[in-house]
Amino acid sequence: MKAEIICVGTELLLGDIVNTNAYVIARALKEIGIDVYYHTVVGDNFARIKEVFLSALKRSDIIITTGGLGPTRDDITKDAIAEALNLKMIINEEALIKIEEFFKRVNREFTKNNLRQALIPETSQIIPNEIGLAPGVLLEKDDKIVIMLPGPPFEMEPMLYNYCIPYLQKKSGAIIFSRVLKFYGIGESSLEEKLIDLIDSQSNPTIAPYAKMGEVTIRITAKAKNKEEAIQMIIPIEEEIKRRVGNYIYAFDDQKIEDVVAKMLIEKGITIAIAESCTGGLISHKLTNVPGISKSLERAVVSYSNKSKIELLEVNPETIEKTGAVSEKTAEEMAMGIRINAKCDIGLSITGIAGPDGGTLEKPVGLVYIGYSDKNNTFSKKFLFKGKRQEIKERAANAALQLLRE
Ligand code: ATP
Ligand code: MG
Repeated sequence: MKAEIICVGTELLLGDIVNTNAYVIARALKEIGIDVYYHTVVGDNFARIKEVFLSALKRSDIIITTGGLGPTRDDITKDAIAEALNLKMIINEEALIKIEEFFKRVNREFTKNNLRQALIPETSQIIPNEIGLAPGVLLEKDDKIVIMLPGPPFEMEPMLYNYCIPYLQKKSGAIIFSRVLKFYGIGESSLEEKLIDLIDSQSNPTIAPYAKMGEVTIRITAKAKNKEEAIQMIIPIEEEIKRRVGNYIYAFDDQKIEDVVAKMLIEKGITIAIAESCTGGLISHKLTNVPGISKSLERAVVSYSNKSKIELLEVNPETIEKTGAVSEKTAEEMAMGIRINAKCDIGLSITGIAGPDGGTLEKPVGLVYIGYSDKNNTFSKKFLFKGKRQEIKERAANAALQLLRE
């Protein structure tokens, strides 16, 4: 089913307010597999509302409007649509009672223009508004569905989620189901390049790449009658993606890198100790979010100062003097030091410059060394991360966890 959204309001047209209703509705429709083809904004003008509505009626199965349901003279959405459909406006008793009760309760005089809020096009029904006085309107005519919702988002949204979406989902008879593949070590553009023929040839399921914080994800989304059918549609595509770039996949759906790493450590019975400088405990924070990690994580220290690196991790003072606190050698000594102190299988360390100050030409902001040590091997890897302080910390912590996965 094709849907479109018409937002009524001169203030929207002039840019006085942002049209948040359109995107809230569009996203909600997307979730239930209804395609949105047009968003239109029109001012509080009878002829133009009618004109926009009639064009929408020609090309869409579902039309959702917001705004212009209130009591004032510029609230004319219902009248314009009723006229476009040749329907008379009639009083809805339920809405009228609610409005009268409200005026009694607040002890205010019921003015005639408030009656307008109880008027709806004949053959339509009201959509209850728990917050405000103006009910929404639901109208079905010749296989078309017309929904009119009030403008204020805090009134519109509960009506949308509690009433319209369940109703439309029933009508469309389709569900949307997604599978997410998470990649590390490959950029968005090279991933896209390797899959471009697949991406371009698919419309259901769709394949959408997305990049965030140094990780790239691909969302495969199928529209189907039910979840089982959707899964069957997704499997062959997922298999083909795995065949091409499977070695970069590290997780699926809402799985995080720390979940994957923690599971691996616990399953293999590996113990680990972590020494963090620039990430200030973020790696251990992430790992300790995973239940059961106490079997593997022996300790984690935040060793920020040079002094603490020497005292707690037995980093050689000469190393820091000669190579600096942010260096390959310091990272290695930190990793080895914590591993030996904690008597663990693996020592992991991180030292870097998170910025915004402290960078030099030689050692710029974002420079991070991640150290690794086990009984056979001690090494460190150099990274240069982009972003603000917190982004650098986040990326660095993720990279350290990825290193453990490898
Ligand atoms: P009311 O009974 O409050 O008059 P209404 O249904 O007549 O409601 P409008 O008069 O069109 O709605 O808009 C009322 C207010 O709702 C606007 O001033 C604005 O703050 C908000 N609003 C309207 N449309 C939108 C929109 N598309 N996105 C975000 N906010 C909106
Ligand atoms: Mg209004």
